[in-house]
Amino acid sequence: MRPKDRVFKKIVILTGAGISAESGIPTFRDPGGLWEKYRLEDVATPEGFRRQPEMVHAFYNQRRRDLLKVKPNPAHYALARLEREYPGQVLVVTQNVDDLHERAGTKNILHMHGELLKVRCEECGHVFREEGDVSVKTPCPKCGRPGGLRPHVVWFGELPFHLPEIEMALKQADLFVAIGTSGTVYPAAGFVVIARRSGAYCVELNLEPSAVAEYFHEHRYGPASKIVPLFVEELLKNAKDF
Ligand code: NAD
Repeated sequence: MRPKDRVFKKIVILTGAGISAESGIPTFRDPGGLWEKYRLEDVATPEGFRRQPEMVHAFYNQRRRDLLKVKPNPAHYALARLEREYPGQVLVVTQNVDDLHERAGTKNILHMHGELLKVRCEECGHVFREEGDVSVKTPCPKCGRPGGLRPHVVWFGELPFHLPEIEMALKQADLFVAIGTSGTVYPAAGFVVIARRSGAYCVELNLEPSAVAEYFHEHRYGPASKIVPLFVEELLKNAKDF
């Protein structure tokens, strides 16, 4: 059943690095991006952090500074509009650690891979917002101990956040949309299978076919800043005409 034939009650939207690419945050694959200068095993694993905490802090300090310089793009704004105006529920599940969805106005959002602008104390578990630099010497604002702070992001080998909640939302969704994600990082890459098996209509919006493209009913390829606003416009119009 195509989107134009119905109004959806529960929409789950999975977003990945591709939705923020046009804002100037490089994806894993973008040439010249930060990810080309660093090895994933060094900066995105608990082992890498134990080996070289200062270097890992420097990497995330740089990413935080870069994030504060960029702005949401029309794709982020379109999803915020969908949440505000659509008659059904809209939940954004993002793999992105940036805060561009929130800055565009999205409220109902789960960050499954954590948030770049948050830091966690491994000594006392305190999670807090941090826009500035962090080092191995920075004390925790709650327990006062230095040396325990780490980025509040999910590294390879760690369990993503909010999984039970996400799984329940996928099983109840009647529309699942994946935007700007390569379909190579699990468990997010498997969400389409859960949603489809539970009866959701599944749409992929990406620059190119993802690794799991075959599981979607419908595909639209192009830059997110163009195809996401068009798709949202269509959903809102269909809901109005229904
Ligand atoms: P990925 O880098 O593996 O894939 C990005 C996908 O987006 C690709 O399929 C690419 O074709 C597509 N894409 C690129 N530019 C696009 C555009 N303008 N419009 C639409 N699609 C575009 O990213 P992923 O699937 O999110 O990979 C997962 C991991 O990358 C996650 O763990 C995430 O935390 C991490 N990551 C996040 C950010 C961020 O927070 N902004 C940036 C880089 C990587």
